[in-house]
Amino acid sequence: MIIIMLGAPGTGKGTVSSLLEEKTGYKQVSTGDIFRQNIKEQTELGKIADSYISKGNLVPDDITIGIVENRLEEDDVKKGVILDGFPRTVKQAEALDTYLQEKGRKIDMVLNLTTPEDEIIERIVNRRVCSNQQCKAVYNVVMNPPKQKGICDKCGGNLTQREDDKEETVKTRINNYIEQTSPLVEYYEKKGVLRTEVVSKKINHLGKQVADEIERDIKNK
Ligand code: ADP
Ligand code: ZN
Repeated sequence: MIIIMLGAPGTGKGTVSSLLEEKTGYKQVSTGDIFRQNIKEQTELGKIADSYISKGNLVPDDITIGIVENRLEEDDVKKGVILDGFPRTVKQAEALDTYLQEKGRKIDMVLNLTTPEDEIIERIVNRRVCSNQQCKAVYNVVMNPPKQKGICDKCGGNLTQREDDKEETVKTRINNYIEQTSPLVEYYEKKGVLRTEVVSKKINHLGKQVADEIERDIKNK
């Protein structure tokens, strides 16, 4: 099973992916998390990635494609994988198609999350993440605050704000999404694998509901 998460920054790709991982046992693979881990460990890859990510820009395709292809070779993703944040350009999508074709695998579902832009910005600037890499729980200081300020409910780790979650960088990320990633909606629609879900508090439909619905549909298949 291969599920791809598509959607602008702050639509809840990470939230839905980790809920689906818990429910299904399919492995969440987040390119953003891989980059952040490398930045933290100050690896060569981390240094390169940081020079793009800190400005809100995408990491170059050749680097990103190589990382994902290597990750897809590992045993823990053979049963199922939820690609969270990849592909993000048409070039990445084409490379993934070629790779999967060679392996005799196929994409089962592309879950496209959409959220009104005002809600996205509000959500991102209020987002705090657990700095414990084994946990990575996500909070919102308004909508979903931790019990104790700055401390993760699940593991007691410190909560931090992502460097690229500051308001100036968020605007760049959204524009890059519109220009470089949104063409993938049509790309996957044409392939007949697209499923669009609105994630918005205005209609009381948030990541948790989406994950529940997807889990149900996968089970009933
Ligand atoms: P968000 O979806 O909120 O932007 P992510 O954690 O998915 O957060 O990504 C953080 C950053 O990592 C992106 O802004 C981008 O710079 C980089 N990144 C993640 N995935 C990719 C990708 N597939 N291609 C290029 N850059 C990526
Ligand atoms: Zn934690």
